[in-house]
Amino acid sequence: MRNTRIVCTLGPASDSPEVLDRLIAAGLDCARLNFSHGSHEGHARLAANVRAAAARAGRPVALLADLSGPKMRIGTFPGGPITLVPGAPFTLTPRAVAGDVSIVSMTYAPLSRDVHVGEAILLDDGKLRLRVVSIGEGGEGREPGGLSNGERAKGASGGPVGREPGGLSNDVHCVVEIGGVLSDRKGINVPGAALSARALSEKDKDDLAFAVGEIGVELVALSFVRRASDIREAQALSRGTPVIAKIEKPQAIDALDEILDAADGAMVARGDLGVELGPEKVPLLQKRIIREVNRRGKLVITATQMLDSMVSSPRPTRAEASDVANAVLDGTDAVMLSNETASGQYPVEAVQMMAAIIDEVERGAPAPEAPGLTGDWGFENGAARAAALLSRTVGLAAIVVYTRDGRTARLLSEYRPTCPILALAPTAQVAQRLAIEWGVFPRLGGAPESPEALHADAREQALAAGFARAGDTLVVVAGFPRGVETNGVHLLRV
Ligand code: PEP
Repeated sequence: MRNTRIVCTLGPASDSPEVLDRLIAAGLDCARLNFSHGSHEGHARLAANVRAAAARAGRPVALLADLSGPKMRIGTFPGGPITLVPGAPFTLTPRAVAGDVSIVSMTYAPLSRDVHVGEAILLDDGKLRLRVVSIGEGGEGREPGGLSNGERAKGASGGPVGREPGGLSNDVHCVVEIGGVLSDRKGINVPGAALSARALSEKDKDDLAFAVGEIGVELVALSFVRRASDIREAQALSRGTPVIAKIEKPQAIDALDEILDAADGAMVARGDLGVELGPEKVPLLQKRIIREVNRRGKLVITATQMLDSMVSSPRPTRAEASDVANAVLDGTDAVMLSNETASGQYPVEAVQMMAAIIDEVERGAPAPEAPGLTGDWGFENGAARAAALLSRTVGLAAIVVYTRDGRTARLLSEYRPTCPILALAPTAQVAQRLAIEWGVFPRLGGAPESPEALHADAREQALAAGFARAGDTLVVVAGFPRGVETNGVHLLRV
């Protein structure tokens, strides 16, 4: 019985009903719609395909909308991928130009205000590196030791000055330091630069409204969060849908406590985190973020390059298998696949492999620490905590929780009981939201009105789910009677 949940990014390799059926059978618990790519129609179609596949499988699946945030990307190369050669000039421009070997458009117009001459700009997850040699007229006065406007106007960088008279002030002229192949819409990173872009662009607001209003996703993730107010801005528009902070900027690490206090959960977004801070910083940051999120009783997802070689190979490297295992041992709620399931050749095999690694680790490793959610033995917290403690002392077959909005089941998950949590949810949306919670197995169901009926239902549900046999011990957590401020913890024999 796998506790750690699997998030799969959807894309061309996984958008068909047939592949979705196989992904869910292999272990997909949450489908990620990546709003950095694709259209609203495309996302709506994907979401409908996921809902239909989940219904066929009879298992709730969560939908996560991942908003691009102030992620910078280059535009496109109509003639196909180009090759950048070290020493050659290359310009990034907010103008809508057709990309070629000397220039490409970018999605982030204020870059010219945020970078300085002499700074490095990384492309495609840091695989290629440019060095800024001059900036269009908007960079006046911000270039220590830089070129004058006059020199720039003459095209001192060798860039394409004069290509579009009057539209050059935001061009960033660079020289290639580390070359390579560059294709459409790859990411741009400027490590350490304090970007002036707002956390939520107009596109993000539009995407957020569509994701929660039209699709009805269970979770929203926000990229490139830098401060707690970024999260609050998204929460103000998310109509109660939880907002996950993607931790990938140095500024987010500096403000980690405030961000995690504000957010409903966090993603260790190791791709950009590794580009912005260096790959060597990722392992300890991963452990710190997971620990801090768990301490707050919130959801944490570990993401990116977990089984990256499976994009083109049916087997992972041993290092990748160890990486998934270590994220589980670190205490992550969920692990995420990106290109492996979005565009890889072996999406189903990647999920099967991830599930197999998790199973093996969870079976073989000692029970995870119950994170010390100290202090709060309040109403729901007290019942959840008591149930989780009982699982460690009495040896329970399962905890059956009747949860109205999912909160008690989520709390239980964070206390890491040593038995499955069978969560009876009153609506499909609550059940779907719980599908990503560590150790929670959501089903549709409501709490019966009398104690006798409650106990009979809990026994029946645990037996039907295969979690219990005659003679086993269960704990039932339920607010009973309904509408009254009670929260009961019932120990019972099957
Ligand atoms: C990451 O950078 O690790 C990440 C998950 O974000 P994205 O896939 O949007 O680049």
